[in-house]
Amino acid sequence: MYFKLQILLALIKLRLAKWWYKNKLDKLREKRWKSLQKQLLHSPFYQKLVLNKTPLDDYPIMDKSAFMASFDKINTVGIKLSEALKVAEKAEQQRDFSPTLNGITIGLSSGTSGNRGIFMASQAERANWVACILDRVIGISFKKRSVAFFLRANSNLYSSVSSRLLKFSFFDILQPMDQHIEALNALQPSILVAQPSVLLEIAACIEEGKVSISPAKIISVAEVLTPEDARNLEGVFNQTIHQVYQCTEGLLATTCEHGKLHFNDDFLIIEKKYLDEEKKRYHPIITDLLRTSQPIIRYELNDIIHEKNDCPCRSTFTAIEMIEGRSDDVLVFRSNENKSVKIYPDFIRREIILTHPSIQDYTVIQKSESIIELYVGKSQFFDKVKQRLQSFLRSQGIDTVEIRQSLSRNHRQGKKLRRVQNESQKN
Ligand SMILES: [Zn+2]
Repeated sequence: MYFKLQILLALIKLRLAKWWYKNKLDKLREKRWKSLQKQLLHSPFYQKLVLNKTPLDDYPIMDKSAFMASFDKINTVGIKLSEALKVAEKAEQQRDFSPTLNGITIGLSSGTSGNRGIFMASQAERANWVACILDRVIGISFKKRSVAFFLRANSNLYSSVSSRLLKFSFFDILQPMDQHIEALNALQPSILVAQPSVLLEIAACIEEGKVSISPAKIISVAEVLTPEDARNLEGVFNQTIHQVYQCTEGLLATTCEHGKLHFNDDFLIIEKKYLDEEKKRYHPIITDLLRTSQPIIRYELNDIIHEKNDCPCRSTFTAIEMIEGRSDDVLVFRSNENKSVKIYPDFIRREIILTHPSIQDYTVIQKSESIIELYVGKSQFFDKVKQRLQSFLRSQGIDTVEIRQSLSRNHRQGKKLRRVQNESQKN
């Protein structure tokens, strides 16, 4: 009960601040940055910077490896990485996701082994997270609603929010979809949450007449939602597909009524590290002003974000045109002049889907500097797609790439689907 009260207070605070500082977000962030600095005094890593009154711009830029290397010193709750890993791994093995250490919830982010992030949150931080999800994703209603949540791992976070009005049901994505059909039909969820590849499977079941549900809201999470997958899903479900952009580093962005993502500028400071001369793509460098047990200060994400300058909703929160993928999804080839050439996944995606309007399902893996593996769901179009990709690469001065056919989609049940991916070692 106490946690629910905390959520309610966090929600009121979030809404009041957003309303009060509507046109002065800078002031709100300044105020929150000041109060965060007081918490940073408990972080051996940041303490000196605070005492020296260092401006935020001069704080070191972090990335995953720097962050994990200084894990013990960065956090303000005195937890060591080895202890946190032990707790999180045990929870993962036993599939019991309610582990805490000194009252702090510990979680492991998905990722390749050795490259997994640790997520830590105090109860107050979890309350903030839930409040933000209620405010910006699920919405508040006095009607009874049920949420069908397709997840890799259950989390005590969601169960703790369940109430008379809002019921969460979990569907384990490690199980095949056929095993969920009956439960999904019986539940008739008002809200459906899943990653795009799972939403597409559900959409296929709807088209085959196996599933008959009519959720009022659909939320895509965890994977890149490409424009064509979004259109396909919107056609089947007959509504806007909403998104949540979140990672170990925080709840970053949620969609407005137009289905466009906006960063949570009321508690995040977003710096943009542009990746191209046209300033179209950038890596976000984020500072989360509400995370205190595990401070996220100037943390550079390797996601590739496309700039969006305006949104019909007129929100003052930074809009995102699309998330293109991660920097390790960028393909790298050697040109005819022996120069290294980067090709962003969006170029590959466009060439493929523009080959024929019925092509929606495909995957591309770069195996080496000169070999890519291509899977096209509608295999009769493979040769055409291959020709189109080859002529695109030639237009970029790359003649030497061999495109091999893959007969299966590069995707394992329960894993994230990445349509374009670079697996070559040299990247
Ligand atoms: Zn908008």
